[in-house]
Amino acid sequence: MKYEIVMGLETHVRVKSATKMFCSCRNAVALAEEPNENVCGVCMGFPGMLPVLNDKIVDLAVRASNAMRMTVNEVSKFDRKSYFYPDLPAGFQITQLFHPIAEHGEVKTMVEGVEKTFRIHRMHIENDAGKLVHAGSSTLLDYNRAGSPLMEIVTEPDFRSKADVVAYLEELQKIMRWCGASDADMEKGQLRCDVNISIRPVGSSELNNRVELKNLNSFSAIGRAIDHEFARQIEIVESGGRITQETRGWDDEHGESRSQRSKEDAMDYRYFPEPDLPPLVVSKEYVLERAVKELPMDRRRKYLNEFGLGEDDARILSNERTLSDYYEELVRLTGDAKKSCSYVTTVLFAIIQEYNNNSVFGDIKTFADVPAAELARVIALVNGDELSSTNSKTVVEELFENGGSTDEIVDRLGLRQVNDSSALEAVVEQVITEFAAQVAEYQAGKIQLFGFLVGSCMKASKGQGNPKMFTEMLKKRLG
Ligand SMILES: [Zn+2]
Repeated sequence: MKYEIVMGLETHVRVKSATKMFCSCRNAVALAEEPNENVCGVCMGFPGMLPVLNDKIVDLAVRASNAMRMTVNEVSKFDRKSYFYPDLPAGFQITQLFHPIAEHGEVKTMVEGVEKTFRIHRMHIENDAGKLVHAGSSTLLDYNRAGSPLMEIVTEPDFRSKADVVAYLEELQKIMRWCGASDADMEKGQLRCDVNISIRPVGSSELNNRVELKNLNSFSAIGRAIDHEFARQIEIVESGGRITQETRGWDDEHGESRSQRSKEDAMDYRYFPEPDLPPLVVSKEYVLERAVKELPMDRRRKYLNEFGLGEDDARILSNERTLSDYYEELVRLTGDAKKSCSYVTTVLFAIIQEYNNNSVFGDIKTFADVPAAELARVIALVNGDELSSTNSKTVVEELFENGGSTDEIVDRLGLRQVNDSSALEAVVEQVITEFAAQVAEYQAGKIQLFGFLVGSCMKASKGQGNPKMFTEMLKKRLG
């Protein structure tokens, strides 16, 4: 390859607040409302209507900044970005150009098995525009989204492949859910990403003119758009041309991009300080109170390196906070990270899937239906040879479906394993007498009959005998 691709991302993340950024209209978290239902004079830009900043948005933006290990500025300021478009009724957007709420952070993630760090340049908060709905020859306007809060997260040009981009976005999505700032669901428009792409000869450190790709609506569309743009730029340069600095819209259906406009400068937007809002001041204490200590990636690394889990288990158990916290609690109670992992990802997940697949009335149950303390008790009984691992699945199933306590279930179902050697020896004697013919065959060299004899002991003890002890006793007795 003669050329390398250099990319930076600008991502808009919808803040998960109940109300919009500067008014009390309901935030357009999902897009399932009737059009123009959640609007008022403020978000419709009526003259004389004044914005009031929603403090929940500051709260969540600070949590998100902390999760991206950013420096939160003690003072940030709002600016007006003026432009005309029908989806922007005020004629300007309130954003933060000169003094953003947070700067200089990083997102760490795994790309194809290798840990990588992507630097965050800055994050600012701003309000969203409405939505144009094209219907045949006419265009409709829906302002439900107008004034909804966004965090714009701008990275450094640290991306060298589409795998980098997708891994970063997936991690960003996890982080946003983890700290509660956003559900970051791309399909619901809660996460939107523009990619700035330029190319350069391998080994060069110069940054060339870049193209901003917009309208990327899914992870797979992002991958296709990057491949296409990389090839397009190489072709232009190879044929002696120059890359025009511009914004291009990706058309995923036709697999091509179209020029939307030449890249504008900040000057074109007539930015100036927003006169209706005071500077935003957040104290150091406020920021500290919203610290996000461990991130999904920290847990994933811990599960891999300290707990010795496999790649897949480490990822699955660190993806989502409630499950990860549940697993951590289980490990704290059992002191057995590997067995805790297999009881969650193998035993419990299988039971949940089976149940939810067969659920007629759509009632969905989760791992939380089995309290960590009860599952920990199951593992303790198995580790203490009081419950066989086969029977432990029955107990987890019962806990999942009907609740109750582990010990009560084990006793009620008669599953407590018998470890009393005199009782077990009596069973062994009984089996040896009953199956004298098989014993003789075994002793004559048909060693595969040993399993049959252990199984017969288990059967005779109604599944309650300790199979390990039966094995030892039979070996000793039969030589
Ligand atoms: Zn409103």
